[in-house]
Amino acid sequence: MIIFKKKRDLQTWLTQQKSQGKSIGFAPTMGALHEGHLSLLQTSKKENDITLTSIFVNPTQFNDPKDFAKYPITLENDIYMLEQTGCDVLFLPAVDEIYPPNEPKGEQYNLGYLETVLEGKFRPGHFQGVCQVMYRLLSIFQPHNLYMGQKDYQQCMVIKRLIQLADFSCKLHICPTLREKEGLAMSSRNLRLTAEERKKVLAIYITLLYLKKEYSQQAFSLLKENAVNYLLEAGFVKIDYIELANADDLTLLDKWDDKTPVVALIAAFMGEIRLIDNMVLTGSISF
Ligand code: AMP
Repeated sequence: MIIFKKKRDLQTWLTQQKSQGKSIGFAPTMGALHEGHLSLLQTSKKENDITLTSIFVNPTQFNDPKDFAKYPITLENDIYMLEQTGCDVLFLPAVDEIYPPNEPKGEQYNLGYLETVLEGKFRPGHFQGVCQVMYRLLSIFQPHNLYMGQKDYQQCMVIKRLIQLADFSCKLHICPTLREKEGLAMSSRNLRLTAEERKKVLAIYITLLYLKKEYSQQAFSLLKENAVNYLLEAGFVKIDYIELANADDLTLLDKWDDKTPVVALIAAFMGEIRLIDNMVLTGSISF
């Protein structure tokens, strides 16, 4: 695996590869890698000549500075895992490489409704930060294919919109959420949970399964009330949201009809660690 720290070096290398007709697949990360991240790279490897990843903990997407300060960093292990997976290239930039001090930053994107709901509502500025870094990464790499996880459902929608707004030519592929054996969605933040908390947070997955089983049988208000109570009893200290939404545009729903595709989404705090997860309840992702 080749590691690039400077975007200019990487751009030169990529231009050479593209001139030989090679296709480029890209899966960006913030490191502390797990099997979920690697599954994106494995999919990219099957579909592209060159698979590229980045590790960059993007300061502009953390609305909570404590969360940024405590974000897990496991670089040596990450590089080992990437080598084992057969990743071709790792981009490992410093903050100044992405946000040069002499260049304008803080640009805003018109994300419309997406920024007012769910993650957009509870993490003000988060998606602007995601777009700021992704705009830069996609501009540098100009990949043919981009791989992102369903785990961050709303983020996938935001990036789809960014691709349209910026007229990038890459195709977004949304890959399934990888889970631990018992069902906990893999996440870098799980590293910060104690053994005891790791058992308790399984309640999120159990809640999603409950919603999947019951959504067509009961009023959504009752389902959500039961779900909130269950998570609180399980030891979650704060629940940002438990929602059932239109899977195509995230409009919040209060009842089921047999036409609208439904996704259930949860964000809740175990201690100070905020976890998110989701499950598509009807059909498959089609946005
Ligand atoms: P992150 O490092 O958290 O920014 O995640 C980098 C990419 O990995 C994003 O596209 C995530 O949606 C994806 N990802 C994170 N967790 C999982 C998971 N459990 N399964 C599949 N993809 C994931």
